[in-house]
Amino acid sequence: MAASSRGASAVRGATCRAATVGRTSLRWKHASARVVHLMTDGVVILGGGASGTLTAVALSALPDVGPLTLVDGAGAFARGVAYSTEEPRHLLNVPAGRMSALPDQPSHLLEWLAVRGETPDPEAFLQRRLYGAYLGELLGATGSRVQQVVDHAVALAPDGPGLRVDLAGRPSLRARAAVLALGNFPPELPPGWTALPSRLAWRTPWASPEDWPAPEAEVLLLGAGLTAVDVVLSLLARGHRGRIHLLSRRGLLPATHPPRMLAAVPLGPRTPRLRALLRMFRETARREDSRAVLDTLRPELGALWRGLTHPEQRRFLRHLRPWFDVVRHRLPPEVGARIGALEAEGRLVRHAGRVVSIAEQDGRVALRYRPRRARTLAVLAVDVAVPTTGPAMDVRALDDPLVRSLLDSGQARPGPHGLGFATAADGAVLGPLRDRLWTLGGLRRGDLWEATAIPEIRMQAREVAEALAGQLRTAGAG
Ligand SMILES: Cc1cc2nc3c(=O)[nH]c(=O)nc-3n(C[C@H](O)[C@H](O)[C@H](O)COP(=O)(O)OP(=O)(O)OC[C@H]3O[C@@H](n4cnc5c(N)ncnc54)[C@H](O)[C@@H]3O)c2cc1C
Repeated sequence: MAASSRGASAVRGATCRAATVGRTSLRWKHASARVVHLMTDGVVILGGGASGTLTAVALSALPDVGPLTLVDGAGAFARGVAYSTEEPRHLLNVPAGRMSALPDQPSHLLEWLAVRGETPDPEAFLQRRLYGAYLGELLGATGSRVQQVVDHAVALAPDGPGLRVDLAGRPSLRARAAVLALGNFPPELPPGWTALPSRLAWRTPWASPEDWPAPEAEVLLLGAGLTAVDVVLSLLARGHRGRIHLLSRRGLLPATHPPRMLAAVPLGPRTPRLRALLRMFRETARREDSRAVLDTLRPELGALWRGLTHPEQRRFLRHLRPWFDVVRHRLPPEVGARIGALEAEGRLVRHAGRVVSIAEQDGRVALRYRPRRARTLAVLAVDVAVPTTGPAMDVRALDDPLVRSLLDSGQARPGPHGLGFATAADGAVLGPLRDRLWTLGGLRRGDLWEATAIPEIRMQAREVAEALAGQLRTAGAG
């Protein structure tokens, strides 16, 4: 089912502000009597979050790619969805020692912290807003090399040997090549959700809603992963006292990181069959911490995913993924302790079940659900419901205009299980624009599985930049 476009525009902040387009590397050109194209003979990067920013930084270090233009619908340059938060309780879920933005300088973030007078502890979980500042400085260091445009790309099409990118609020851009760095899409909403006013049923967990619930309000979070924990922390920061319900299919909370990093553990043979892998994981986890087992496997997860057959991948997504996610995507220790304490006090209540319907009743929200393993339905009556199931991933179900236009026009096709687009090993989007359109991050999930955390994004950004620059050189020489 499609994520609501209203939700999408709220999170993307698609309203158009004045462009910060430098005049030095861009020039206006009349392409016809009616259409004015903003010309660039370089590269346009669509999406200015961590993925787009790191691609721009990598491209800016390479010769012969021409002017670079970074377009972001929300104007969230460098920070994107993940690092735009101003809430100090929102922490990274990966220790600082693994969060360098530059693949060949693993201590880069720690050195940056030291220069700022912060403690460069590799095991610390930094505030996400601080990490956003770090990415912002990296982007700032490219100076006038990267032009920033605040607008929403709505379509992309071939244009001679290059591309035309249509924007929501200003004339089209033309470029020799483009990179899609569209990142996290708003969560899918259950049927009936958008019939309720958004003050009762929020459309996205990421935008700051004007009407935060009253401190004593009863709140339902649909989904119990890291996004839900973010919202719990935001509510607490606003002095929330009311009960918070978490409803998810299995009622699982993310595991907590241990206070110190876990050492690698010896693993059995990695036979590339799902059943054998699962057996190996379970047997090892009987004598070792399951988090250490997953951490040891982490560098191989992409290769293991690619080694599975299509039906095995589907079985993993259907049955094992929720269990995998709670061990893989963990809470920093202090956040885990806070959530545990709230649960012990009865202020946070977990429910396992599947949503059946949602309706407005006497100015409140009535959500009917089928509890796990139960035959009869149950009802939760709350003041506000928030979708926290995490970013929508199936591109076939998105109503994002750019994604729809690429799929409908055949310029891109869905990747395995609809998790992003089908891509080549270097991130080129498979299809007629293969020599001029690349992508990274969430749109490569089906091909890579592990595609969206900084350790993966920084590698992809460099690979995309090098492949794209190589292609432009080849085309220029031809
Ligand atoms: C809340 C949250 C916390 C996270 N914490 C961590 C962490 O601690 N460590 C870690 O390694 N990973 C973390 N992640 C994973 C995260 O996905 C990546 O680290 C990173 O932020 C992804 O960056 P991105 O640029 O791909 O996506 P995003 O951050 O989603 O940025 C995409 C940008 O593209 C823009 N955009 C989208 N469509 C268009 C369009 N059509 N036209 C113009 N602009 C467009 C959006 O406005 C947005 O600014 C977190 C993710 C989330 C959601």
